[in-house]
Amino acid sequence: EPIHEAVIGRAHEYGDTPALIDAVTGATLSYAELDAAHRRTAAALAEAGLRKGDVLALHSPNTIAYPTVFYGATRAGASVTTVHPLATAEEFAKQLQDSSARWIVTISPLVEIARRAAELVGGIEEIFVCDRPGDLSSSGPVPDPPIDPATDIAVLPYSSGTTGTPKGVMLTHTSIATNLEQMRPLAPMNPGDRILAVLPFFHIYGLTALMNAPLRCGATVVVLPRFDLDQFLATIERHRITGLYVAPPIVLALAKHPAVAKYDLSSLAYIVSAAAPLDSALAVACSQRLGLPPVRQAYGMTELSPGTHIVPLDAQNPPPGAVGKLVPSTEMRILTLDDPSKDAAPGAEGEVAIRGPQVMKGYLDRPDETAAMIDPDGWVHTGDVGRVDADGWLFIVDRVKELIKYKGFQVAPAELEALLLTHPVIADAAVIGVYDEDGTELPKAYVVLQPGAALTAEDVIAYTAERVAPYKKVRRVEFIDAVPRAASGKILRRQLRDKE
Ligand code: ATP
Ligand code: MG
Repeated sequence: EPIHEAVIGRAHEYGDTPALIDAVTGATLSYAELDAAHRRTAAALAEAGLRKGDVLALHSPNTIAYPTVFYGATRAGASVTTVHPLATAEEFAKQLQDSSARWIVTISPLVEIARRAAELVGGIEEIFVCDRPGDLSSSGPVPDPPIDPATDIAVLPYSSGTTGTPKGVMLTHTSIATNLEQMRPLAPMNPGDRILAVLPFFHIYGLTALMNAPLRCGATVVVLPRFDLDQFLATIERHRITGLYVAPPIVLALAKHPAVAKYDLSSLAYIVSAAAPLDSALAVACSQRLGLPPVRQAYGMTELSPGTHIVPLDAQNPPPGAVGKLVPSTEMRILTLDDPSKDAAPGAEGEVAIRGPQVMKGYLDRPDETAAMIDPDGWVHTGDVGRVDADGWLFIVDRVKELIKYKGFQVAPAELEALLLTHPVIADAAVIGVYDEDGTELPKAYVVLQPGAALTAEDVIAYTAERVAPYKKVRRVEFIDAVPRAASGKILRRQLRDKE
């Protein structure tokens, strides 16, 4: 089934139920309106000349119109490449160039950036502005091009670019729809659920967990265009939000920020965190403060449509730190780090490899990078180090590329970062490998202190030395004002490396 059929093919059954609510303006879109609006958008795109296989760049923060454009475009036969709303014109132009997009849909406040990006690449057919559902609309014939769900690209998201240049990831209708089916038994959504969409729809996590999954089952999605803590908390209270899918920085805010106490968050039934490592102590602090069951982690990557693991919403006592159980119809192996053709011993750490119907078709126009990621037997080598316990819980240690090789030992930055955060006056921390004069790689910590706190580099080193095996301790320390992070909580280690 094409993705628009899989997700909103039965929207009319939910009729007047609100599908989306704009938390800022209060504007609402019912399921019946969503169904009608996406068809009229498909008609408008076809009328403008968009044809099956064309790539459309969707350049917008979360709005209630976003899914009308998304499903309208796929219904018209387009592949949608989702663009970061904060991209510069140059970054946007790169994505237009790389994806060969010829159509752009943006919002009024971003139209100048879209125009400049279009000028930089040339060849753009049209830039549409769609602030509200209905802005991109025609009562003409609704296109019905033949779509082969197994091979046609529905979405062309770009990976986050944490480890290198963002790469276009080719996801078919089937891989996206299959992953929704795979996640459903572990993380069900139901009519009556009210899901807060503050993470962006342009990233595969938001697209799947906050748009496709809730809209498929008659839940209500309350959208916020950006994260502002007070607005976020007020929205949970006002709209009686039941479920949150967030990233670790939001868990941190929920655990520690004084503003949280001002709001009634009692409607919340669960919180899921994914996209970056979540410190266990922080997760506990968050759930205890809010009187909720433990924060559920999930794990995935753009290349896997994206989810392969989630802690089931009904799990009673998930082990702290687990990122979840494997979703159905998916295989996993843990491979030794020295030899990716060998399985690690049961319970031992190694590179996580995944095989299943949710695997991407490949990176767009990057056959070498695709071959480096997907081996001839179809296994995706995730680049993440993990281990699986006897009950099947997956724990993610760190990315293979981030492991610091100190004199033949492997040190995981994520472990040291979590440890540093347990220090009472350390507000934030990031660890990378640096080289000393002899070419030995050493763990270096960038540390942000609480306001007014005083700590020396020696104190920081001693704190880690007392708590981890000797080879793992931090050996260099630099105090900084803020750790560079993406909105998902991913530490932008390249920016730290560039400072070296
Ligand atoms: P790029 O591939 O361009 O360098 P990226 O890998 O950050 O960027 P994404 O696809 O957005 O791009 O992120 C997937 C990665 O996020 C995973 O490979 C993993 O390293 C990390 N990740 C996702 N969920 C978790 C989690 N629960 N715990 C730890 N890390 C996670
Ligand atoms: Mg990646």
